Amino acid sequence: MSTIALKNFIDGDWLPGSGASLDDINPTRSDEIVASGAMATLAEVDAAVAAAKGAFPAWRDLPATHRSTILSTAARVLEDHSEEWGTELSIEEGKTLAEGIGEVLRAAEILRFYSGEPLRPTGEVFASGRAHESIIAERIPLGVISVITPFNFPIAIPAWKIAPALAYGNTVVWKPAESVPLLAMRFAMALEEAGLPRGVLNLVMGSADVGTRLVEHADVAAVTFTGSTVVGRAVIASCGRLCKPVQAEMGGVNPAVVLRGANLREAAGMVIQGAFGATGQKCSATSRLVLHDSIADEFLDQIIEQVANWRVGDPLDPAIDMGPVISARAMSIINSDIEEGISAGAQVLTGAEPVATPDLKHGFFVAPTILEIKNPDVSLWTHEIFGPALTAIRASTVDEAFAMANTGPFGLTASVFTTDLGLVSRATRAINAGVVHINSETSGADPHVPFGGNGNSGFGPKEQGRSAREFFTTTRTIYLRPF
Ligand code: NAD
Repeated sequence: MSTIALKNFIDGDWLPGSGASLDDINPTRSDEIVASGAMATLAEVDAAVAAAKGAFPAWRDLPATHRSTILSTAARVLEDHSEEWGTELSIEEGKTLAEGIGEVLRAAEILRFYSGEPLRPTGEVFASGRAHESIIAERIPLGVISVITPFNFPIAIPAWKIAPALAYGNTVVWKPAESVPLLAMRFAMALEEAGLPRGVLNLVMGSADVGTRLVEHADVAAVTFTGSTVVGRAVIASCGRLCKPVQAEMGGVNPAVVLRGANLREAAGMVIQGAFGATGQKCSATSRLVLHDSIADEFLDQIIEQVANWRVGDPLDPAIDMGPVISARAMSIINSDIEEGISAGAQVLTGAEPVATPDLKHGFFVAPTILEIKNPDVSLWTHEIFGPALTAIRASTVDEAFAMANTGPFGLTASVFTTDLGLVSRATRAINAGVVHINSETSGADPHVPFGGNGNSGFGPKEQGRSAREFFTTTRTIYLRPF
């Protein structure tokens, strides 16, 4: 693969950045540069915001049917390129080819869902206490939205922010994570090819300084962010200071709780997929496992047996189950988090050792690792590792299991495995998470359904489905008397 030139997309033009150089590294073969270019300067960020501001009135006032057609056409462009761009995603980010292609198709699905939104009702009509008066609360767009996205879903997460932002009539300036700029370009290209007018979507490459400018810029009406809790908190604080609406989806340390009555073989498959799918780099990955004493030994045997068949290597190889993590830095942090856990008393059930990939010695590989702890008072239990690591603990009662699952400040997703209806009912009330799965893995978000976390995992209105309207529009109430 020859090195691709990275560019910003500002006011409808693809322009090289004038800032620090930016290399997009293949995490499977770190001596290979997938794409190369330069970050945007702050002046280029300002130009992108100015373009979005200039494009806003015409985009807002465009007939809804036109906005709808552009989004559905972009969905088709993504579908047409799903193999090619899914392969690039897999090379750039490290998830398997099936996951890469699946993610591009997911982005298309999201665009298609939101292509329906401009055509749906945009407000409510209220009764009035005065004769001949109508009261209308209409939903109107906010203006320029800053979109800041993480590395782990390079096209699906941008799609679930940008598609609703555009559908409801806003314009966008988007900063993707530095490690996945190529798929960001592909997403912008799909919308460009679909006929999106100049300036409606602008893409700027950059790191924290570009992100900070996008949060603080006076012409930015609102900020939607997905990423770590530490950065999310800073973004929320800045927006609070500036009285700017903010939506932040952040970290998670998601539990799977396995209780009596669970189908252990199926549950083991789900837990492994949840923990190690996409190399454990999903905000909704299963990172904690709470096992009721009655099934603990048998369940641990099952997952250890199944993980033994889990193959780690080149994500483009269809026989591979798990690719590398995103960067050398991520690999080193994950390894030291695991080592710290072991030093604090965790027992290694599998993994926690170098991966033997002799032909891929420059790859950022981490073995799928399962640890067991005796009590939840260790940082391993409440700290997001964001890699292929799962920590197990045993509970002697169901209430204790739920309490362990709720320990810590996060509340993104959770799974409960049991076929006992009484336990299911208790679980859905007891578990503190924005998304609860019964007998399925902690990951998974349908485009038409609200998604987001509680506590330190999420701030502001939920994403996806019609709930996105809460964030990407505001209401204007009109008291209307004809005379
Ligand atoms: P990150 O917080 O390091 O970066 C996220 C984005 O913020 C990047 O584009 C980054 O360049 C930008 N950024 C960094 N500093 C900034 C600043 N000071 N101001 C503005 N922007 C700044 O996260 P990451 O490593 O890319 O992604 C992994 C994290 O994202 C994990 O914690 C994961 O749980 C979380 N995540 C959450 C969800 C969710 O829906 N809850 C989804 C995916 C990922």
